[in-house]
Amino acid sequence: MTHPPTPHPIANIGEFDLIARLHRVLDSSPRCDVLHGIGDDTAVLGTGDPLWLATVDSQVDGVHFLSPIITPEQLGWRAMAVNLSDIAAMGGQALYALIALLLPPETDVAWLERVYRGVQQAATQYGVAIVGGNISRLPERVVLDVTVIGQVRRTQLLLRAGAQIGDLVLVTGELGAGAAGLLVAREHLDGAGALHTALSASERETLVLRYVRPTPRLPEAAIIAASGSATAMLDVSDGLSSDIGHICQQSGVGVQLDSTALPIAPLTRRAAHAGGRSPLELALAGGDDYELCFTVAAHAAPALIAAVQDATGTPVSIVGEIVPAAHGRSILLDNGQPVALDARGWQHFQG
Ligand SMILES: [Mg+2]
Repeated sequence: MTHPPTPHPIANIGEFDLIARLHRVLDSSPRCDVLHGIGDDTAVLGTGDPLWLATVDSQVDGVHFLSPIITPEQLGWRAMAVNLSDIAAMGGQALYALIALLLPPETDVAWLERVYRGVQQAATQYGVAIVGGNISRLPERVVLDVTVIGQVRRTQLLLRAGAQIGDLVLVTGELGAGAAGLLVAREHLDGAGALHTALSASERETLVLRYVRPTPRLPEAAIIAASGSATAMLDVSDGLSSDIGHICQQSGVGVQLDSTALPIAPLTRRAAHAGGRSPLELALAGGDDYELCFTVAAHAAPALIAAVQDATGTPVSIVGEIVPAAHGRSILLDNGQPVALDARGWQHFQG
């Protein structure tokens, strides 16, 4: 499809500016059954208890996945997992999904059935019923658009707003592995290179799996939400640096992260160095990790960390502290130097 030249193409403004502009077009008069509309990981709806959660996210070939390096089953899993991660980010439970498919007419039926096996694997593992969808023709590329509906008890709802000065910032699992997996996958598409030389086949496979088949942290989120001690939460989909910014903005606070405390696996560090990137860059700006980032009062943190680890085996790391908004958003490098998070001054730091 070719559009006439436009005076203001959407490519010229960022995703969040675009969302804000479209938001202004919409009717924003308050409704008692819309607790939270645009602006959190999911919408929060209803007047009773539990509340409803609703979210939608697309997987576009060439943008969110690379068809040569992802199996159809992994694609189906991933399309579900990125949405389930948003339900987890609210402290909720996923219940239902609808799937809209946009497909070139020449798409192989057996390939599509394999995609749906991946969808069903994720649905089965996390207790989701696939209850509808739509199929439309689209030339050239495959798009999977998944809507997930879930529920959360009112007392367990965790928004991006709610972080308090003095709270600690915690992250589940590890950061940067998804981005490292994408580096490996891209290099593989271009032919063998430095990562191929530096990492074994099974190491490369481990990292690529982190990218193509993320694990939504629903069991971990359930424990965090039930604890009653977390104050704000979201999932790390774009990279900790920008995602923690959403908590700061909506909670009216600042943050100081500690670069030495970020959970970056040795394999991710090796991949970063081999690929000529900084491990910090992958952890802070890489995205695609789908870990949970949440805030909790310092006195409650040790018990919550132990509860999540004991029940799920997933490690939880303290990566920073909430500070007054006037202190801004920064990260302490390992030389003790604070660097502004949004200035990307850490990007070339070889930590
Ligand atoms: Mg999210």
